[in-house]
Amino acid sequence: MEVKQTVLVVDDLVPNVKLLAETLKQNYNILEATSGAEALDIVKTKLPDIILLDVMMPEMDGYAVCTALKSDPATNHIPIIFITAMSDSENEAKGLEAGAVDYITKPFNISLVRARVNNHLVLKQYRDNLETMSMNDGLTGIANRRCFDVILEREWMRMLRNGRPISLIMIDIDFFKMFNDEYGHPAGDECLKNVAKALREELKRPSDILARYGGEEFACILSDTSLEGAHMLANAFSRAVLQLKIPNKQSTVNECVTLSMGVGTIVPGANNSISKLIKGADDLLYEAKRNGRNIIKFSNIF
Ligand code: GH3
Ligand code: MG
Ligand code: MG
Repeated sequence: MEVKQTVLVVDDLVPNVKLLAETLKQNYNILEATSGAEALDIVKTKLPDIILLDVMMPEMDGYAVCTALKSDPATNHIPIIFITAMSDSENEAKGLEAGAVDYITKPFNISLVRARVNNHLVLKQYRDNLETMSMNDGLTGIANRRCFDVILEREWMRMLRNGRPISLIMIDIDFFKMFNDEYGHPAGDECLKNVAKALREELKRPSDILARYGGEEFACILSDTSLEGAHMLANAFSRAVLQLKIPNKQSTVNECVTLSMGVGTIVPGANNSISKLIKGADDLLYEAKRNGRNIIKFSNIF
């Protein structure tokens, strides 16, 4: 299903807003604002895909709105097209330097407005798709390794600022090579998808992140979570995967697919690091493997 993209039209003159809205409403969802402040307010809750922004407005002009949007990481990726009656190159340059992608001059030529907006929205869609693909694992649909790295870095810094613990669960499917050998690679892929889905359904908080870390390994980042809390979630993961009852004939620990996990918790500080957390959780995972598999090993990491 194609989702309609959203255009925010900002102009202090209502007839201008109405004309542009009328021009574009057939193909896009339209949001309307008649001042810079109102535009910034709308953007906070409804991220538009593009903004048509009048330059000359009382109180807050288009350049100021543009600068505000470009300085906020939540909005700096939204393309902005300036609308202006001042068509000289000096003004055009000023707008482009402020970060606008294009310029439309008044009075409007309706077909030009349509074509320009459409071109920029096609590009926006393309960029959004690339962004999604670069952060998601194609097979399971959960976060990929790249996304894991970005989020762990961000959450580590956040917990460092807050003086709160961060936990990491490293998860590995037991005897998965044998599973592939026994049932074939497509069945292995199906198993990975089902395990990812079952694990994801156990997550409770929006800040909990599950990622595919490698082949049949997953990793779960839990901000502001103690070792006890993370251990409880690891137990829930274990149960959820057992409940899938995916036969793994060659496994020597269970007749169905099981997980081994390493759970590490750290309070970020000057004498530890992200790599220490990852290595700590990874060492615990291998200890679980050495101890027979289908086991959770957990520890605070110092
Ligand atoms: P252990 O219990 O020690 O974890 O043994 P294991 O066989 O699970 O671990 P090992 O690392 O030896 O093998 C992992 C296997 O996972 C190897 C590979 O065939 C399989 N695998 C990795 N990625 C994929 C994938 O995307 N699809 C499928 N079907 N299999 C995968
Ligand atoms: Mg394995
Ligand atoms: Mg492995």
